Amino acid sequence: MIIQPRIRGFVCITAHPEGCAAHVQEQIDIVKARGLIADGPRNVLVLGASTGYGLATRIAAAFGCGAKTLGVFYERPGEASRTASAGWYNSAAFHRAAAAEGIWAHSINGDAFSDEIKRETLDVIREHMGKIDLVVYSLASPRRVDPKDGQTYQSTLKPIGRAYTAKNLNTDKKIVEEVTLQPAMEDEIVSTVKVMGGEDWEMWMEALDAAGLLADGAMSVAYDYIGPKETWPVYRDGTIGMAKVDLKRAAKRIDAMLKLRRGAAFTAVNKAVVTQASSAIPVVPLYISILFKIMKEKGLHEDCIEQMDRLLRTQLYNNSALQFDDEGRVRMDDLELREDVQNEVERLWPQVTTENIDALTDFAGYRSNFLKLFGFGLKGVDYSAETDPVVPLMP
Ligand code: NAD
Repeated sequence: MIIQPRIRGFVCITAHPEGCAAHVQEQIDIVKARGLIADGPRNVLVLGASTGYGLATRIAAAFGCGAKTLGVFYERPGEASRTASAGWYNSAAFHRAAAAEGIWAHSINGDAFSDEIKRETLDVIREHMGKIDLVVYSLASPRRVDPKDGQTYQSTLKPIGRAYTAKNLNTDKKIVEEVTLQPAMEDEIVSTVKVMGGEDWEMWMEALDAAGLLADGAMSVAYDYIGPKETWPVYRDGTIGMAKVDLKRAAKRIDAMLKLRRGAAFTAVNKAVVTQASSAIPVVPLYISILFKIMKEKGLHEDCIEQMDRLLRTQLYNNSALQFDDEGRVRMDDLELREDVQNEVERLWPQVTTENIDALTDFAGYRSNFLKLFGFGLKGVDYSAETDPVVPLMP
């Protein structure tokens, strides 16, 4: 079939296998150009390994450290008349590239929140990997079925306490408009914490520990976001922010568990990037468009792969020491939150309108990043060619 982007609101319902492969290869090339990472992990488990920050961490671990990686994710395979989801094609491309270099990799496609996928993952680790040195928790999901009570919880992106009206960028129509978000009900806050908080991360770590599959010195990291004041009502102080507070609670508990084997668990606060998860958050795409313009002009721009390569290279491994802020977090958002960058965001924010969006922001960069998530707009890919949407996940 001829595969073109079909955008519906903040998602693209098609993905291009060769485009996704080119996007994965770009990320591999960035890591390889920076050279090998010393004293890296041997065995890495990445939960949420098919897109965004999880995929970038997997690429940095495999191609920067030569690590064996086991990736868990929830993606849709292709059919004769329908493309797979982007994460499926990304992972298939990752496997081909890893196999070509003799790097062991395995993936499990299924619901990471379920007991069944946890059991399957432990079996693969036991049979093929040995003990795990690094567990990366990078799930971003709209819902979770809790295996303990069988209930489905939905996550929401809402302010807490009162309604919030803000400038918003309708990325589909390229319009700057006002949006009013109604405050979350109590049960929506509880549900968001259930989905995006730390409970499932703890369940994974307890299962790995009970099975004796954590190596001495094992580390585990989950990803957090803080961002600028403009987004706090919907992010840091909203429902998702409450989930991130719970993630920090879980980090402390898991850290205490890993300390017994001279390891550590913590959250890393990453910068704002365009991913499937972030494009769904109101207000955030406008902020990212402004931020990209400023960070590119200052030569500070980073995408997922530069962030995750830097995390492994300058914090976790390469004979470097972890540096925590006063709340025990690793800060990868240092450049985003630099004073000169945020002063410029504050200056531009009130001025942006539909008419001047291209002059005052990097909407073009946002848009091209968004399309790239689905494998569109990559150099060297013939988008007019017949393409088979059915691609095997692993060679
Ligand atoms: P993403 O949407 O790109 O990736 C989500 C991953 O989770 C995918 O691999 C997907 O397959 C997997 N997943 C979702 N539901 C699943 C399930 N039930 N079972 C198995 N896998 C499942 O998201 P992302 O933006 O990379 O976010 C990852 C983490 O990084 C989140 O905690 C997010 O809050 C954090 N973060 C994101 C940003 C940003 O700007 N995007 C910034 C800082 C921190």
